[in-house]
Amino acid sequence: MSTYYVCKIPNEKGKHEVHKKSCENKPPTESLIELGDFQICSDAIIKARTIYSEVNGCYNCCFPCHKI
Ligand SMILES: [Zn+2]
Repeated sequence: MSTYYVCKIPNEKGKHEVHKKSCENKPPTESLIELGDFQICSDAIIKARTIYSEVNGCYNCCFPCHKI
């Protein structure tokens, strides 16, 4: 299980990136919304989509959920 977060600020493609707690590229805490604990990033993405319609997994920490 990992704790996942979604960034409040969209990236240059208009997507809100999902990160694990351990991610080195994670934005500062004040820019993050905690999603909760999940086994796999795809479950965290589903939760993030209830907050933002445009989401993407972080290339660094959620590579299986990263879409170009
Ligand atoms: Zn990340």
